[in-house]
Amino acid sequence: MNYTGTTFRPPFEANSLLLQVTIGCSHNKCSFCTMYRDTPFSVEPMEQIRADLAEAKAYVPGARRVFLENGDPFALSADRLAEIAEAVHEFLPAVETIAMYASINNIRSKTDEELVRLRSLGINELNIGVESGLDEALVLMNKGYDSKEALYELGRLRAAGMDYGANVIFGGAGAGKTRENASATAELINKTSPYLIFTGTIHADPGCPLYNDMQTGRFPEPTFGEHIDEEELFLRELDVENCLYFGLHPSNVVRMQGWLSRDKQAMLEEVKNTRQRLQNRLGDVPVRYGEGAILL
Ligand code: SF4
Repeated sequence: MNYTGTTFRPPFEANSLLLQVTIGCSHNKCSFCTMYRDTPFSVEPMEQIRADLAEAKAYVPGARRVFLENGDPFALSADRLAEIAEAVHEFLPAVETIAMYASINNIRSKTDEELVRLRSLGINELNIGVESGLDEALVLMNKGYDSKEALYELGRLRAAGMDYGANVIFGGAGAGKTRENASATAELINKTSPYLIFTGTIHADPGCPLYNDMQTGRFPEPTFGEHIDEEELFLRELDVENCLYFGLHPSNVVRMQGWLSRDKQAMLEEVKNTRQRLQNRLGDVPVRYGEGAILL
């Protein structure tokens, strides 16, 4: 299989076949992201994709799920995505779902009819960095869309029958705005019913604009206490069903997962226990390690 540079995938795609169809990210401008900073966006030739699929067929002929790489393969045209999906089914007939990272901007470039066509070819369960429902936070993170556009595009995606997993970043609006961020994000999530919510807290590595803003204090980082308060309010205001809440990212202050709405009370209890455990550090800004990891 051909992979260029570092290849990323969500933790819950650990058992999926990773198939590179793009290199880098077509946006590559989110203020907190260094994933593809030095990797210009390009498209993998169809011949290479078919060669990779032929190789995969030899090793995992019964593969059920494919995750397309890299940063936002949904940026490809609907015709190219359809061609890739047809090739996947040709080589790996047991595949049921073709998932990938996608952005709100990628949905915007597809018509309703194209979305329905892609869904009929098995493309589903897109992992989308929604990050926040608060416009101020979306500007700070340089996502390239506002909350109204996110709501509209996610609505079109859902109307085409596609499920999506939402990535949410606590603290994206900075210190002092965590409650606003929690409520606005919960509202957006409630209106778009993802099948999965993947949470993390805001962090930045050297090499991205947000890192400099954190160093100079232009972006005031939330404290442990604010992160916990934001997650509690977000959880309380969430109104979704059959949705996996995946909160195990190492950048999270509260590490937990569960099904909503079934496990909501147990998860709120975990938030309470974490606040109790960290009672002497609630006013501190977390020290970060790789991937924004916090030592608890
Ligand atoms: S967060 Fe996602 S969309 Fe933003 S620059 Fe990084 S890979 Fe691209």
